Amino acid sequence: MRRKWRVRRLDDESPREKSVTHPPPACSSPSVRACVDVTGKMIKLIVFDLDGTLAESKSSLDLEMSGLLCDLLGITRVAVISGGDWPQFEKQLLTNLPTDERLANLSLLPTCGTKFFRHEGGWKKIYSEDFNALEKKKIIASITSALAEAGFKKEAAWGEAIEDRGSQITFSALGQQAPLEEKMKWDSNFAKRKKIKRILDTYIPEFSVRLGGTTSIDVTKPGIDKAYGIQKLRVLLGVSLDEMIFVGDALFEGGNDHAVKEAGVVSIAVRGPNETKPVTEAIIACL
Ligand SMILES: [Mg+2]
Repeated sequence: MRRKWRVRRLDDESPREKSVTHPPPACSSPSVRACVDVTGKMIKLIVFDLDGTLAESKSSLDLEMSGLLCDLLGITRVAVISGGDWPQFEKQLLTNLPTDERLANLSLLPTCGTKFFRHEGGWKKIYSEDFNALEKKKIIASITSALAEAGFKKEAAWGEAIEDRGSQITFSALGQQAPLEEKMKWDSNFAKRKKIKRILDTYIPEFSVRLGGTTSIDVTKPGIDKAYGIQKLRVLLGVSLDEMIFVGDALFEGGNDHAVKEAGVVSIAVRGPNETKPVTEAIIACL
């Protein structure tokens, strides 16, 4: 059953009422209600992780999630931060998002916020902060050495295992195009990647090494993590950290969303898109 309810627009100095059509509010969700209340401020920006949060790993947004995101974009600003690069945003997020004026409310931060895209008529890259050739060479060689030292045997591979994303080098254990089913089985308790990370940290202490996705390890410049992207959002959008809510599937220690929580942004942990949907409904209802 769908019914009309009323929400306040958050992007206005003087909030006004606007009717939108949406499924019944789920504001009874105590965790989301608490998250909205805890800041004591008006929430102006909802930030999502992409892979494993808005969409299943390396898959596209489903239609239900797309509809919820559009509803949310109609009432507030939204940002998506991922370790994935821009092509992944196009494939996972944008192919199933209708192009309309609501996209002006959407900010996209590939590779942990080392790139920033806004919609200004079309998608426009605002900045990109890349590794130089020497840094790339050292990181790739170190990943190879760490894998050998960890006793990692090359398993069935679907595509390249090491990907140069400009501002981030990503190791994907089974290859970039591995089927989700295989990836879910490979390191569900993170033990393999934690071992590789421990060794890699000793080879390249001057860089930041994090677990991402289901089978991947991301290397970035120091200080570049999702909290870095959050700070970019703060400056570029003029939204303070206590006016944001973050939703992600890797908020645990060592996960690539953890830095956002550490930065002090109120964070909601989910275990996949099927948990993100009710959380998004609840946020819409609570705003
Ligand atoms: Mg994730």
